[in-house]
Amino acid sequence: MPSAIAIKMIEVQAFGGFEKPLSYLVPNHMISKIQIGCLVRIPLGKRKVIGIVSSLSPKEKPNENKLKNILSLVQEKPVLNAELIKLARWMSTYYASSIDNVLESMIPSAVRDGMEEKTKRFIKINKQAPYEQTCEKLKNSPQQKKLFIYLKNASSELALHDTINLLGVGISSANSLLKKQFAIEINKTIKRDAYKDEFSDTNNNVEQKICLTKEQAQATREISISIQKKKFQPHLLQGVTGSGKTEVYFQAMEEVLSHGGGVLFLVPEVALAPQTVSRVRNRFTIQNEEVVVWHSHLSAGERLDAWKAVTSGHSRIVVGARSAIFAPVQNLKLIIIDEEHEPAYKQEENPRYHGRDVAVYRAMLNQGVCLLGSATPSLETLHNVEIKKYTKSELTKRIDGRELPLVHLVDMRKEAQREKNIPILSQPLVEALRQRYYDREQSILFLNRRGFNTTMLCHDCGNVEQCKDCSISMTFHRTDGYLRCHICGYRKPAPSFCTSCRSFEILKKGHGTQRIEDITESLLPKRAVIQRIDADMMTKKNLFRQTLDEFRKGKIDILVGTQMIAKGLDFPNVTLVGVIDADLPLRMEDFRASERAFQLLTQVSGRAGRGDRAGEVYIQTYAPHASSIQFARQGDVSGFVEEEMEMRKEYAYPPFRHLVRHIFKGRSQDKTSYYAEQWAKTLEANPIEGLEVKGPAAAPLEKIKGYYRFHLFYLTNNVTRFLKQYQVRRKAFPLDHEIQDIIDVDAFQIS
Ligand code: ADP
Ligand code: ZN
Ligand code: ZN
Repeated sequence: MPSAIAIKMIEVQAFGGFEKPLSYLVPNHMISKIQIGCLVRIPLGKRKVIGIVSSLSPKEKPNENKLKNILSLVQEKPVLNAELIKLARWMSTYYASSIDNVLESMIPSAVRDGMEEKTKRFIKINKQAPYEQTCEKLKNSPQQKKLFIYLKNASSELALHDTINLLGVGISSANSLLKKQFAIEINKTIKRDAYKDEFSDTNNNVEQKICLTKEQAQATREISISIQKKKFQPHLLQGVTGSGKTEVYFQAMEEVLSHGGGVLFLVPEVALAPQTVSRVRNRFTIQNEEVVVWHSHLSAGERLDAWKAVTSGHSRIVVGARSAIFAPVQNLKLIIIDEEHEPAYKQEENPRYHGRDVAVYRAMLNQGVCLLGSATPSLETLHNVEIKKYTKSELTKRIDGRELPLVHLVDMRKEAQREKNIPILSQPLVEALRQRYYDREQSILFLNRRGFNTTMLCHDCGNVEQCKDCSISMTFHRTDGYLRCHICGYRKPAPSFCTSCRSFEILKKGHGTQRIEDITESLLPKRAVIQRIDADMMTKKNLFRQTLDEFRKGKIDILVGTQMIAKGLDFPNVTLVGVIDADLPLRMEDFRASERAFQLLTQVSGRAGRGDRAGEVYIQTYAPHASSIQFARQGDVSGFVEEEMEMRKEYAYPPFRHLVRHIFKGRSQDKTSYYAEQWAKTLEANPIEGLEVKGPAAAPLEKIKGYYRFHLFYLTNNVTRFLKQYQVRRKAFPLDHEIQDIIDVDAFQIS
């Protein structure tokens, strides 16, 4: 009976650093339940670990007597289907990441941990604890005391995590209170539905019956052709901001759902696209679909529930950011990648995959359609259209024929001459802001940094305070007078004199959102309401949402923010956008700098004039002739792309070849650079055919968190072929154990 034998011995891919699957036996009572993709607990030496059943017919047949039994099933149903296992294998090969690492990132940790009980922790005060005395006992633990007093004043038990988040105290404080029996814990079973009210947009609750524009109808038809073929097809939807791309996505979704298919809808970052997310929810909840929102703020339990709703086939629509690409949607026939050009889709830790590219591959495995949407598509995607791998539809007009905003360039070099010092807000921009305020219209000011003054520059010797670990300038935060490193978090009190020459002339150069907020306040009438929104606020997600809400309701006149307000937000009453430092993205040491600058400027400009009034944009720049700025000003995507493609072609940069970054890092600078050099010599002595090697060089951020970094860049036509040859050489290369190396395929970040 070969089948019985086959099922008795299985291969398990264990998590936690095991490259190869291991063989195990299945005890009789479990045989009927074991399938490919099941999560099992196995003995490994003295430990118990978990892993995925990866094969029911091991290629090698080790001696049964030496094999151990698997211990248990962690989840009743398989956690991965055959399709996702295939996807994992491809990712592991293409991104040169170990298979267990890939699998681990595919399965939410709550699922891996076998979490089952749907209970939520509640906390209440222990009435036996005398109030005064307890407060006295807690006087050296302010956080515990704060929580204790809060519980004392509460009328009933409170949800533990919500409460500590609200108070800003740590979980350890709560646990200490419980341990000392000053508070009591209660576990309640509940149905978690975290995303219930989070993304329902009250202003937009009822989607009106929409009559598609000509262009929308055309795009919908073109996409529909691909959907009906039931074949793999990536499709680019290129549409200017405000052209109604979302409606086209919805049409495609409705068609796929009507054929019984499932849908994945990816946005670059859920918190930055609350309107898109709530539009999806509103639109499809009415149609009795349960829309799962998959985002990083979900608690483990919520994620488990979301995951179960999807695996069971109960939910056919998942909206989320990058990692939602692994959501086990059944019969997945459509994947939408909104703002496909966004770097946020690239994961900058292991496995270093690109969400968009994984989406395309997953659509292929499912014979489905992958719909990529953007106003400014990446050159990679446009190249794929060019070589006919992807099809494309275009939306060239804004809804209702609204005009694209009028863009003014403000030459800051001239402004600086006129004003004798460097103004942060130019005269024309200030005038325009005032006018909007008097006209009761709203404005957005956009810049790229945060903090009060970016750096502390000595006027006498030019010294800039730098982080001792990261070789980047530190940022001054006015709130506490500290300098901070934004890479490693190191902070120190800001000096009052130059640490290099002792001069007291420390100019605070550069500017952040806080500074812009202050300056704007000083230049506008007293009653104007100016509010800042930046990365610091993202950690307090309610504050972030609240601010956006107030802005939408017209309670704020001017919103000051970083690139996060450039994305998918739609405020009809905004008629003015000011870009304070258009040049920053151009100064990055990156061949994509121009593309990024173009995309950002276009995106930001798209925020102006989305209502029935025309918009205006002021771009302050020291490089008014840079092509990215000129083309963005004219809203000329194809003009920019044509010029940029030529440059890329000349250097054979992506999209004409793949770029792989190879980083060496270690605590010793000499040793790290030595090994990077040695490796380069190895490649020289034994070259890989068709490969161009650049480097080694010190990374722009040479030192991060105490590690020195040197890198090489490889340009290749074929990643898989390159990696095969690379790995042979790499295995034979004796790298010191104090040095680590990292491969980043299709690298985005090169700092
Ligand atoms: P994009 O994503 O291309 O920037 P949106 O999808 O956000 O554009 O659409 C812009 C606005 O136009 C939204 O408020 C949307 O509800 C509205 N809209 C889209 N299509 C139509 C249509 N056919 N008729 C009327 N309004 C529409
Ligand atoms: Zn100095
Ligand atoms: Zn640092």
